[in-house]
Amino acid sequence: MPSDCITVSLELEGYLVLDKVETKEFCMVNIQKKTVTECCPRCGQHTDRIKDRRWQIVKDIRIKDKPIWLRLRKRRFRCTNGCPAFFEASTILRRYARMTNRLIHALVVEPEASFRELSRRYVLGEGAVSRAFLREARSIVAAREEEPFAVLGIDENSFRKRLRYNTVLTDLGHGRLIEVLPGKNPKTIEAWLQGFKYRGLIRFLATDLNMGFVKAVRRACPWVIHIADKFHLVALVNRHLCAVKRECHQEGMKSIRNLYWLLVAGRETLSETQKVNLEQALVAFPSSHVPMS
Ligand SMILES: [Zn+2]
Repeated sequence: MPSDCITVSLELEGYLVLDKVETKEFCMVNIQKKTVTECCPRCGQHTDRIKDRRWQIVKDIRIKDKPIWLRLRKRRFRCTNGCPAFFEASTILRRYARMTNRLIHALVVEPEASFRELSRRYVLGEGAVSRAFLREARSIVAAREEEPFAVLGIDENSFRKRLRYNTVLTDLGHGRLIEVLPGKNPKTIEAWLQGFKYRGLIRFLATDLNMGFVKAVRRACPWVIHIADKFHLVALVNRHLCAVKRECHQEGMKSIRNLYWLLVAGRETLSETQKVNLEQALVAFPSSHVPMS
């Protein structure tokens, strides 16, 4: 080992590091469970009779700014009572999972990171991140008791190239996940709200400008006050401003300089000439007065 190397603990309790290969992009670590015997899942008998071994590659968290891939040497045991052969139980990943439990946990708790950012950071497909997130989110929700809350946040997320959607309900007052519903059908949200024990205590709804969601919530809780999400509202205003700018340019209004800036700047900051230019553009182009819906 070079004299300037340091050793970093993998912190996988109960596992032994057999070997590792490090490249510029990632680090592949061969590991094996430390235990000698395993308990048969059918009869509970302990056995040390190994039938065979297989390698399984799973993704793990980043360590020292490098994604880690684990190459797990899994043993298959024979039960002395004649039960079918079985694989050793794993404490670091679930059955059929392609990523470790701690990576899935990292995907869920990563603050304000989009699925795209997470997929880049951990070298995973966006779909894989989304599916892992939703599975984990659902299991967190299933293990929790229903609690009252006042501010309901609704948002949708999509994966598989926007072919599949999920609707995420959150308690914005406490930053808690409430529920993940399949699809984005407003009737599903309405049905969930109708069955929610503390429905009467919800006071506000914060969501994007999807009126389907708003109508569904109003049918179940007519007293709720709707607050449009600031991000979506600003994005909508921006879209309309861009449309006006495009229309002006197509119509040969290139003579109005810095039109986009005129549209977004505060009126009080404009000079008299700029105000006249802005008025000209607003009068000439009806799309600047299209209601935002
Ligand atoms: Zn057995």
